[in-house]
Amino acid sequence: MEPANNGCLYITGTCNSKSCAAYNQLVWCKWGFGQGDDKAVFYYNSQEGELKCPICAKFVKPQNFGFAGTWFKVVGSYRSPEQPGVVNVDTKWKQAPSTGVTTYKYNKNNLVKWGSLNLHISVNKPVGA
Ligand SMILES: [Zn+2]
Repeated sequence: MEPANNGCLYITGTCNSKSCAAYNQLVWCKWGFGQGDDKAVFYYNSQEGELKCPICAKFVKPQNFGFAGTWFKVVGSYRSPEQPGVVNVDTKWKQAPSTGVTTYKYNKNNLVKWGSLNLHISVNKPVGA
């Protein structure tokens, strides 16, 4: 998997299309910058339905995400089986190297439920980072 030149966000999910070569396997959906843009945001709550399998182009339900070759920031809130109440998240900007993907541990038996989730990416170092 080659990150885009300007970096990108990857959202992973399992392809459920029986006719797809990646059926029942984890696929990496790339979410990058628009033409000429140096910033982008994936608004999970309104855009999760836009994720498509890179092989068959059918809808993929998001499971996890990661970043490659970009500055990134995670903003949202979730509920976790490990702690009561809503946990608010507003990370500092961090830089994901272009070698490999910076991601999070995935444990299907210990999933957090995101109430809102916005994934920000930036080509250039953001002010205050
Ligand atoms: Zn597929």
